[in-house]
Amino acid sequence: MIDIKSLTREDLERILFKKGFPKFSPIQIFTWVYRKRVEDFSKMTDLSKKLRKYLSENFYFSRLELKERKISLDTTEKFLFKLKDNSLIETVLIPEEKRKTLCISTQVGCKYKCKFCVSGLGGFKRNLEVAEIINQFLEVGDLISPKKITNIVFMGIGEPLDNFENLIKAIKIFMDNKGIYLGKRKICISTVGITPKIKELIKLSLGVKLSLSLHSAILEKRTKIIPVNKKYPLPEVLTALGEFVKKEKFPVTFEYILIRGFNSSKEDAQELASLSKKIKCKINLIPYNPSPHFNWQPPSEQEVENFKEILKKEGVFFTLRRPRGKDIEAGCGQLRARFL
Ligand code: SF4
Repeated sequence: MIDIKSLTREDLERILFKKGFPKFSPIQIFTWVYRKRVEDFSKMTDLSKKLRKYLSENFYFSRLELKERKISLDTTEKFLFKLKDNSLIETVLIPEEKRKTLCISTQVGCKYKCKFCVSGLGGFKRNLEVAEIINQFLEVGDLISPKKITNIVFMGIGEPLDNFENLIKAIKIFMDNKGIYLGKRKICISTVGITPKIKELIKLSLGVKLSLSLHSAILEKRTKIIPVNKKYPLPEVLTALGEFVKKEKFPVTFEYILIRGFNSSKEDAQELASLSKKIKCKINLIPYNPSPHFNWQPPSEQEVENFKEILKKEGVFFTLRRPRGKDIEAGCGQLRARFL
């Protein structure tokens, strides 16, 4: 049996065409599954009886089990899902003025063990399957209203580029104009900087956005909190990102978590400003969201102000984001960490 939500429309076309079904059948099926949200082949009334029978005998619909749902005072919502092997993953919905962004997980755990991220604490278990990625969107959409999710960002548990094949397939399903039909610029991949995979992504020319967990523009300092910076050093990552910008004609985003006494000094700001002049980019400053698992502290208001002042003076394009969902453990991997 094949999980229907693990297939792109082209995959489905190939399978059905071989069996002699009409070429337009996958369009009808995608419309039922992703637009009308019907997960019962017998109810897909515009398909022939023969096709409905074939689908029922050879395909199935997987689901995720909702284990916990929390809503923050700031309206951020966190969903804890249980997978078929009892693993847990998190999905976070972030409502803003005009958009609702869904932060999606791509792995169970993470092997990179960044020193500020709870997702890496229990180690790496496995990659998510395509349908498990898609189902986070569908399950949350069903719980709220499907049309309301306007953007997705692969910034949940796991390093998305480490689960490359499934990530790309899922993106193709998200962008399919007969299904969910998310615009390419409504999709963002957030990476810690896996250079070879960034290069593969460039070749695909998907048009999606890319952001880098930077957190320090100083090489040695970055390695301290992002150990994989040793394997894929920042200068190499930046070269790859430069190629990405050239190909996609779109800036990359640098995520920069401000941590008190670590990366929030005037020198840090100056280094960040110089780096940002080398590549077309936007910077997201995020004051650290404290976690009982680490000793880091959020920056003082003064540190944030001084940091911003330097970036402004240097003409750097940046935004200051406040951590969301503090009261519901909405930081990456925090809710799941309770069950590790
Ligand atoms: S920040 Fe990303 S790469 Fe680093 S441990 Fe967390 S999930 Fe993994």
